[in-house]
Amino acid sequence: MIFDLSTFLANKDSTFHLEGELESRALAKEGNIRVIDPIKFIGDIFKVDGEYELQVNIYYSINTDCNRCLKPTTVKIETVLSEKIIIDKGNTNSDKYDEEYIYLQDSLLNLDDYIWSQVVISLPMKILCSDNCKGLCPRCGIDLNTQSCDCMENTIDPRLEKLKELFPKE
Ligand SMILES: [Zn+2]
Ligand SMILES: [Zn+2]
Repeated sequence: MIFDLSTFLANKDSTFHLEGELESRALAKEGNIRVIDPIKFIGDIFKVDGEYELQVNIYYSINTDCNRCLKPTTVKIETVLSEKIIIDKGNTNSDKYDEEYIYLQDSLLNLDDYIWSQVVISLPMKILCSDNCKGLCPRCGIDLNTQSCDCMENTIDPRLEKLKELFPKE
């Protein structure tokens, strides 16, 4: 999505409002995480001491499998894209280019790449269907959230087995 900042850059308004949607793109090597369309964003550009600061809230959801029980799970994520905008009229030394800044060659701001990068950066490392997901039994593989097994009860540490002999069943 491209925003035309020409009026904002030319006059005294102190904020420029941004709002829109973006389609998800292909994720490289992120397991089976899928970003659900659309990615929504809303924010502003602020004029602060002659500089331009971009602050955009991004809202999206992902579909993936719970890391413990493998159940398909949808998670909502919120993240913030916060960057300084540098108006580059062609006289900036390219060596100074920095990923922390957005360089504008003219008054058209295309936010898509920046928003998508922020989405990729903010993807969670670990996703659980719920904080207290019990996961799968490491022995028989059943889902311990919905079923139970006695695998773990039958697997007693041999050292504990010795202790058990000291306390015979009554
Ligand atoms: Zn789970
Ligand atoms: Zn089991």
